[in-house]
Amino acid sequence: MNTTAHTETELPRDAFAALTERLRLVQSEIAAECARTGRDARSVKLIAVSKTKPAADIAAASAAGQRQFGENYVQELLSKWNDAALNPLDIDWHFIGHLQSNKVKQIVARVSMIHTVDRLSLAEEISKQAGKVNRQIPVLLEVNISGETTKSGLAPDAVLDAAEKILPLPHLKLSGLMTIASPERECVKREFDEMHALFTRLQTRAGQGISELSMGMSGDFDLAIEAGATMIRIGTAIFGAREKR
Ligand SMILES: *Cc1c(COP(=O)(O)O)cnc(C)c1O
Repeated sequence: MNTTAHTETELPRDAFAALTERLRLVQSEIAAECARTGRDARSVKLIAVSKTKPAADIAAASAAGQRQFGENYVQELLSKWNDAALNPLDIDWHFIGHLQSNKVKQIVARVSMIHTVDRLSLAEEISKQAGKVNRQIPVLLEVNISGETTKSGLAPDAVLDAAEKILPLPHLKLSGLMTIASPERECVKREFDEMHALFTRLQTRAGQGISELSMGMSGDFDLAIEAGATMIRIGTAIFGAREKR
């Protein structure tokens, strides 16, 4: 590795210590919530959501042992993928943003999971493009559990039908479900419980290949763990507040 090329992408020592500390705090909160609810802490994977944050933040979290990172925007994911400081690191990229079908080919060789499949045509495009690079990409179906019209995602009662059509696609592997809960905390527990029920029904229908339930963010991951999440996506609590885009 060429260390001189890295200096400008390294965080100052204080900022590095602060980020590491926030990551440790999140990890210990996950462990505490798992202990409280009788879950094995290894059954909850932490995805560090690094959208809008610089490569230096990602490099710092990686140095602190974080491996899975979530990004929402294709261009940003590509520029981080190509970043000389991040490229050599052992990072699994999760795509968690709204995905246009015409951009699938740009990320299909680079992501370890796509969390946001919300329509059959997108699944078909992922399978087609993944086939060209000889991959089978794990994907999750995004569910609009709160029913808010501003959110993408399948209606809960459309999930099993969509799964039936997506399961036979050769170059993707349907691995579970993802959701973003509504902002009102009093609704969140019921929404996460509904997601878990749907997840269990999908498992019954499609088998143990359905292993991931991606839900819970900085403000509600405790409730998500309680409801059975296997992946939680945390940005703000690790990297600090984001500027509005
Ligand atoms: C931004 C984002 C997150 C992280 O949200 P925080 O509240 O910052 O933890 C998680 N999931 C998705 C889909 C996001 O877009």
